[in-house]
Amino acid sequence: MLDRKAFEEEMREARQQELWGAEYCLNRYTEEIESLREIAPYAKISEEAIRYLEEIPISTEGKPFRQVLEELQDYVFSAAVGLSHPRCFAFVTSAVSPYSVAGAIMSDMYNLHAGGYQLSPGANIIEEKLIRWMGSLAGYPGSSGGLFTSGGSMSNLTGMIAARANVLTEEEYQIAVAYTSDQAHSSVRKGMKLMGLRQDQIRIIPSDEDFRMDPALLEKAICEDLKAGRKPFLIVASMGTTNTGSIDPLPEIGRIREKYGMWLHVDGAFGGSILLSEIYRNLAKGLELSDSFSWDLHKWALQCYSCSVCIARDKKQLVRTYAEHPEYLGDIIDSEHIDGWDLGIEMSRPTRAIRFWFTVQAMGTDKLADVIDYAFYNSHVAERQLKSFGDWEICAKPMCGTLNFRYAPKDVDSAKYDALNSEISRQIIESDFAYVVTTVLKGKRVLRMCMINGNTTTDDVTDTLDKLNETARKLKASFM
Ligand SMILES: *Cc1c(COP(=O)(O)O)cnc(C)c1O
Repeated sequence: MLDRKAFEEEMREARQQELWGAEYCLNRYTEEIESLREIAPYAKISEEAIRYLEEIPISTEGKPFRQVLEELQDYVFSAAVGLSHPRCFAFVTSAVSPYSVAGAIMSDMYNLHAGGYQLSPGANIIEEKLIRWMGSLAGYPGSSGGLFTSGGSMSNLTGMIAARANVLTEEEYQIAVAYTSDQAHSSVRKGMKLMGLRQDQIRIIPSDEDFRMDPALLEKAICEDLKAGRKPFLIVASMGTTNTGSIDPLPEIGRIREKYGMWLHVDGAFGGSILLSEIYRNLAKGLELSDSFSWDLHKWALQCYSCSVCIARDKKQLVRTYAEHPEYLGDIIDSEHIDGWDLGIEMSRPTRAIRFWFTVQAMGTDKLADVIDYAFYNSHVAERQLKSFGDWEICAKPMCGTLNFRYAPKDVDSAKYDALNSEISRQIIESDFAYVVTTVLKGKRVLRMCMINGNTTTDDVTDTLDKLNETARKLKASFM
C-alpha cells in the first residue's frame, strides 16, 4: 500500500531539490559562457566520455541530482558548447543570447502549450505579433500569417505542403513538378520527397557563377514540363544558401511564379535575418512576391534551438491546408485568433515565440540589426585580407557574412589544391584555435567561413586568417 502522507512529504522535498538543481544549472551555464574563449571552438568529446555515457545504467532507485548534473555537464554540455565559440566558423550557427535562454527556460518552466489560443492566450498573442512584424519586414500585406516551428526543415515542409494544397487539385498530384536550385538546402529535397513527389517530379535547376538559381534555365524547364503535359506548381528559391550565403534572383523568379500561376516558397532559414538590417534588407527585394517563406531565428538571430518561422502571404492558405477541427477540440476552437494547429503540422508544441520576444524586447531591434551588419562587415574585411596575402583565391563573393576561398599557390599543381585545403582545415581544427571546414563549390574543395556567430569579432576573423595563411605556407612544401 502507498503511504500517502509519506509520499506527499517526499514529493515536497524532491521539489525543493529540483529547484535547487535548476539554480545550480544556471550558475554553471553562466560560468561556462563567460569563459567561452578558453574552450575548443567545436564539439569535442573524449573516448572516455563516450564509453562512460554508453555504459551509464538507467537508474531505478534514483541518485543525487548533483551527480546526474555533473555527468551531463562534463560529458554532454561542455562537450558541445563550442558552437557558440567566437571562432566557430563552421556550419550556420548562432551564439545564443542569454535572453533567448531565459525565454526558453521560462516557457519550459510554465510548460506553455502554444498549440491553441485558449491554452495560453498570452503566448499566442505574442506569437501572432512577432509573425505580423516579421511578415511586414518581408513586404507581406496584413493578411499574412504563420507560425513558429522547430526549424528550417519544418518551415520549408510547411510552406511546400501549402503549395500543393493551394495550387493543385488531387487529380494533378501525379503530374505535378517542383523546382529548386543545385544550391538548395537538403531539407528542400527531403521535404519534396516527404510530400510524396517522385524523383521525376523534382527539377534541380543549375546555379550561375554566383551560386544563384538561373531564372532563364528555370523558365526553360517549366516550359518543357508544360509541353509534356505536366503541371509545374512549386518553386523553392533560396535566400542565403548554406554554402555561400547566395540569394536567388527573387524579382525574376517572382515574375516566373506570376506568369505560370505557381507557388513560390523562399527558404530564408539562413538569410531571413537580413530583414532585420536597414542596410541589407534591400537584398531581399522580391521576397514580397513569394507565397511563403522560412526564417530560422536559431541561425542568425541569437536564438537557441528550436526557433524558426514559416510565414505565408495569405494566412488563409495555411488554414486551408492544415485545419481539421476534430470534434473533441470543439470547445477550444477560437474564431478570432487562429490556433497554431490550424496553421501547421504540430498540435502540442512549446511556445518558441517567447524566447525571441525576450531577445527582441530586451535587446531592441537596432542591436539585432548590428549583429547582421557586423557579419557582412567582417566578411568584407576577410576578403580584403585574403587578397592582400596573395596565393589565395576568393571562390564566391562574400554574402550573408559567409566567405569561400582556397589556398591556390601558383607553384603547386592545381590538381593538389583539394587535398591541400582539406589539410589546412584539418590542421586549424587540430590546433583548437578555430573551427573552419571545407565545402565543395563547382567541383572545387574550398574553405568556408560563416561569420554570423554573434560572438565573433573582427579580430577573431583576422587572427584566424593569419593562422590559416601561416599553416598554408608551412604546408605548401609538402605538396610541391
Ligand atoms: C539550416 C538550413 C535549413 C534547415 O534548417 P533546420 O533549422 O536545421 O531544420 C534549411 N535551409 C537552409 C538554407 C539552412 O541553412
